[in-house]
Amino acid sequence: MSTLIDNIGQLVSFDPSEPARPTRTDAALVIADGRVAWVGDSHSAPAADTRLDAEGGAVIPGFVDSHSHLVFAADRADEFEARMAGVPYSAGGIRTTVAATRAASDEQLRSQLHRLVAQSLAQGTTTLEIKSGYGLTVDDEVRALRLARDVTTETTFLGAHVVPAEFAHDRHAYVDLVCGDMLAACAEHARFIDVFIDGGAFTVDEARRILLAGRDAALEMRVHAGQLEADGGVSLAVELNAASVDHCTYLTDDDVELLAASARHDVGTVATLLPLVEFSTKQPYPDARRLLDAGVAVALASDCNPGSNYSSSMPLALALGVREMGMSPLEALAAATRGGARALRRDDVGHLGVGARGDVVILDAPDYRYLAYRPGVPLVSRVLVAGEHVALRSR
Ligand SMILES: [Zn+2]
Repeated sequence: MSTLIDNIGQLVSFDPSEPARPTRTDAALVIADGRVAWVGDSHSAPAADTRLDAEGGAVIPGFVDSHSHLVFAADRADEFEARMAGVPYSAGGIRTTVAATRAASDEQLRSQLHRLVAQSLAQGTTTLEIKSGYGLTVDDEVRALRLARDVTTETTFLGAHVVPAEFAHDRHAYVDLVCGDMLAACAEHARFIDVFIDGGAFTVDEARRILLAGRDAALEMRVHAGQLEADGGVSLAVELNAASVDHCTYLTDDDVELLAASARHDVGTVATLLPLVEFSTKQPYPDARRLLDAGVAVALASDCNPGSNYSSSMPLALALGVREMGMSPLEALAAATRGGARALRRDDVGHLGVGARGDVVILDAPDYRYLAYRPGVPLVSRVLVAGEHVALRSR
């Protein structure tokens, strides 16, 4: 089964075989058996079984959201309102969600998760990483990862999100549990292990122990670091060759140099920036320009979660990258697609070169720059995952 997409106003392919030509006009695209089979000038397009008219809209790769926390119950709208009135964000609010998530039924968690995933898809996200981390018992973490596995291959074990209340006076015992029975039960359901390094969560030394245990269990590593201060998490992530270090709002010059050196390797550590968090916590934005100028590999992701940011909008993250973080529109789109793919160590998504999965977003706009130029406007008009048209609905 093949589909020809034509009448494309502008194609942004990020084709790795043509790095100097990120955009093209008069282009057409053929997807066959779920993969990009041909890209070129529309007048020389081969025949296909079906035709999809892009109606002059820009065509981009589906967004790769490499950081989300979508398995949870209840919300924290009251905390959001208080924060907007001046109460500072702290990691402790996570425990509120842990209590609600433990009390929820499988069906409640599943229906909420599926609703949130449908919303992401409707906004153009075709690859989505989902973390556990609101269970924090062996059974509740396994449950979260099983539910996430039903909707994505990119699952992350985040037993080290915070120390749960029942271990508040014995955090060492909790780290032992995460590295021991919890990891043993969760590893088969996860691709990655993650640790939240923060004054309200885990130290760099604890994180090292947890990440190494995960690596021994054949998981790839990712780290939350630098959200509220330069905490030493970046150097740990680079030292262990984690796939990504996420937040990176507070960085030392040494951190930037380490990340830049890592980016020169084929498989290095990506700096994933999460500006929707800064938007939703009224914190200063990360300095993407500083990272890009230094040669760091940068991704943009949502960090959608009920506390520090409840937006899953990759278009809004991209707009903030441009408006607040010194990125060009093309750099921001690249970070939200192929940057996210690199942060997940995937080379088959995040671009539309031949062989890539046919994950395509058609915009109701002639030019990809409209994503930043018209923030908040629903410009994603059609989404294909592996060449299949996705019915967009969010209820
Ligand atoms: Zn997060």
